Amino acid sequence: MNPFTYQRASDATGAIAAVAGDEHAAFLAGGTNLVDLMKLHVMTPSRLVDVNAVPLAKIEASRDGLRIGALARMSDVAADPDVAREFPVIAEALLASASPQLRNMATIGGNLMQRTRCPYFRGDGWACNKRMPGSGCAAAQGEHRNHAILGASDHCFATHPSDLAVALVALDAVVRVRGPAGERSIPLRDFHRLPGDTPHVECALQQGELITGVDVPASDVAINSRYVKVRDRASYEFALVSAAVALKVEGGVIADCRIALGGVGTKPWRIPEAEQVTRGRPAAASTYEAAASIAVAEARPREQNAFKVELARRVVVHALTTQGSTR
Ligand SMILES: Cc1cc2nc3c(=O)[nH]c(=O)nc-3n(C[C@H](O)[C@H](O)[C@H](O)COP(=O)(O)OP(=O)(O)OC[C@H]3O[C@@H](n4cnc5c(N)ncnc54)[C@H](O)[C@@H]3O)c2cc1C
Repeated sequence: MNPFTYQRASDATGAIAAVAGDEHAAFLAGGTNLVDLMKLHVMTPSRLVDVNAVPLAKIEASRDGLRIGALARMSDVAADPDVAREFPVIAEALLASASPQLRNMATIGGNLMQRTRCPYFRGDGWACNKRMPGSGCAAAQGEHRNHAILGASDHCFATHPSDLAVALVALDAVVRVRGPAGERSIPLRDFHRLPGDTPHVECALQQGELITGVDVPASDVAINSRYVKVRDRASYEFALVSAAVALKVEGGVIADCRIALGGVGTKPWRIPEAEQVTRGRPAAASTYEAAASIAVAEARPREQNAFKVELARRVVVHALTTQGSTR
């Protein structure tokens, strides 16, 4: 590991000032991703600003929706009774993530900021435009079974790994951010960036901006939501393909529908065109099949990950079918 200094911030203002003033500084939350990447020499901050003492861990549900502090632990959010009852897709996505030990440590802000699991990004000595801009992409000729089929560019087709982000993008969540210039809100759908020709620019945050929380607006669909994740192992594994769905059905007809995919996109992948086709149609297999086909219509697979197209289609159908909304 490279040498670094460590300081503990007691409030957001101090934490932001410390990181904004030093381009080599980084916030440290649960450390489950950052410390890992520091050991691998992928991230080499020379100053860590520990934000664990900053009071940002509240989980509050109100008539307007859900407000989750950035430092709330994944396990606490998953176990929160309001989250489990009113926003099941969030609890299910969290419980399908990592392991209980990791979830006890890892935070909501850190989860949204975690880096891709592409082995070439994490392995020193390989070409990776995300780790070293302009060096190339070893995955293109190498192992890419787990890679993205949506949102790719010639420069990068690594998947975004967060399960939670897939659930949140389906529910139109907004990321609350505080920085040296004040506060702002960023819709989650705009928070993560497509790789384009700058895959190292992964999100909308500027140096020194701290995620303070996530707001999930109240909606009729959130209560009838579900997360389905397919992976190589039954637990402790990232998604090959996942789907977050939410439905409102009235008299057997779909009034509202949300569909987002994980494991297949270079960012959490919401699919408005697939949602649109369901509205006003019966909550039935033919509607779900139509939506699922549209969900993967833009897919551009490569040799090793071509199986994800059909898998994603089936996961969407399965999630919509088993969601079972009658409310
Ligand atoms: C073995 C293993 C399996 C895993 N499996 C899954 C899985 O299946 N699904 C899944 O979704 N995740 C999985 N994870 C990832 C895990 O969820 C993340 O490591 C974790 O959520 C990161 O949170 P953290 O608080 O530890 O962040 P940290 O490691 O502390 O930080 C990660 C990054 O976020 C930045 N950061 C942290 N907090 C803030 C903030 N408030 N504002 C701005 N920047 C911030 C840090 O500077 C750093 O760059 C797995 C991890 C491991 C190690």
